[in-house]
Amino acid sequence: MSKSHMEKIKCPKCSHESEMLVWETMDTKTDPQIKDMIRSGEVFAWRCPHCDNKSLIFYPTLYHQVKEKYLLCYIPGNPTSAVEYMKTINENNESGYDFNDNYTKRVVSDINQLRE
Ligand SMILES: [Zn+2]
Repeated sequence: MSKSHMEKIKCPKCSHESEMLVWETMDTKTDPQIKDMIRSGEVFAWRCPHCDNKSLIFYPTLYHQVKEKYLLCYIPGNPTSAVEYMKTINENNESGYDFNDNYTKRVVSDINQLRE
């Protein structure tokens, strides 16, 4: 299952706060549309409702292709902590999946690698 929450984003242009949907886990089984959202950049796109300023907000997320048993951890600009995170993933995961069960795990820190 996917996990997401609303995060408060302060607009860099007008300083108004508004909310953005942030995905903690992306599950392609429950949310198949997420693939296209990544490709188009929509998952990281944010628009200020006050001044119409558009920004890309990159946040750490876990991309899970259930059928392919493919797990991709995206941590923007920080490969080291991404690798560390991946090591502990099976210890604190609440997803109900066993990520040690023949999973392909990949860690990326670049948005273009995530799009692949
Ligand atoms: Zn604004």
